[in-house]
Amino acid sequence: MKTLSLLRSAAWMLVICSNLQARANNITADDSTHQEKYVLVIHGGAGTILKKNMTAQKEAAYKAGLEEALKTGYKALQAGKSSLDAVEATIRVLEDNPLFNAGKGAVFTHDGRNEMDAAIMNGKTLEAGSVAGVSTIRNPISAARAVMEKSEHVMMAGRGAEQFAKEAGLEIVDPSYFRTQERWEGLQKALKADSMKSKLDHSYQPAGKLGVENIDNKFGTVGAVALDKAGNLAAGTSTGGMTNKKYGRIGDAPIIGAGTYANNNTVAVSCTGWGEFFIRSVVAYDLSALMAYKGLTVQQAGKAVIEKVGTLGGNGGLIALDKNGHAALPFNTEGMYRGMVTAEGKITIEIYK
Ligand code: ASP
Repeated sequence: MKTLSLLRSAAWMLVICSNLQARANNITADDSTHQEKYVLVIHGGAGTILKKNMTAQKEAAYKAGLEEALKTGYKALQAGKSSLDAVEATIRVLEDNPLFNAGKGAVFTHDGRNEMDAAIMNGKTLEAGSVAGVSTIRNPISAARAVMEKSEHVMMAGRGAEQFAKEAGLEIVDPSYFRTQERWEGLQKALKADSMKSKLDHSYQPAGKLGVENIDNKFGTVGAVALDKAGNLAAGTSTGGMTNKKYGRIGDAPIIGAGTYANNNTVAVSCTGWGEFFIRSVVAYDLSALMAYKGLTVQQAGKAVIEKVGTLGGNGGLIALDKNGHAALPFNTEGMYRGMVTAEGKITIEIYK
């Protein structure tokens, strides 16, 4: 009897210790619940997303946006379409939704422009495409796909990318299409904070050394990873980048291996967060490499790479889906807009930690 109760207390201690460890690492400990077979996982950005700052109305709008995107992608997969089709269709819905920092509703650069980045990758062929710093393509994710499928290149930037998208028959819009009042106000706040800081403290070093600072510390990039009926993985990410970004700054999203990566042998990954740190940590490919070379599970590898970002001083999160449909959604911020759908169509949407 005594041995049994000793064993029981030891087991409890272990549970408590591992919970404390998870808290110490500031990584959500919900990974263990994602062993079901998921076919589509999405994110709508990670950051300081606190329930106390959210109105019921706003929360409902975010959830409705995520649900619409999940249903769109799920429908494509159910109809037997490829994971690439599902990823593109899902991200287009999120790009068209002004709540998210991608497509309409993208954040503003220091100069008051909307400059977007996007990437897509095919896990079966390791083909990839991306666009960076584009301002006139309504759906940058479709432009990324066109780069992958209709050119011999992987990455195109700025005006050249826009010219290519036009020739590929994609919808071109006036740059004012992307503008929303909320994002404009976000930029004004960031500009004010910048000038306050330089007045108050001359030694102040702007975040990322480029003045790239997300004033409300809330990101909002969108991403999707999918597994289709043929067993093929795909990943995509689309973003307006970070508020107040300068000098043609490009983030991690369009950089294959940093913010976006897919490989049928391992995993499909889409990241969100402070891009400079995700680039330096080569997060998406690192996650895949940990699985390929070290045999880590998607949960273990996801946790490890977000810890690495945290160690450098960065924050954010990611979604990862392995070839067996197991998902990991680690983040070291207060929240991450995220959603998943199983092969049976069961939808889960979460926002907070
Ligand atoms: N990762 C994006 C970037 O740095 C921002 C985000 O995820 O919201 O451009």
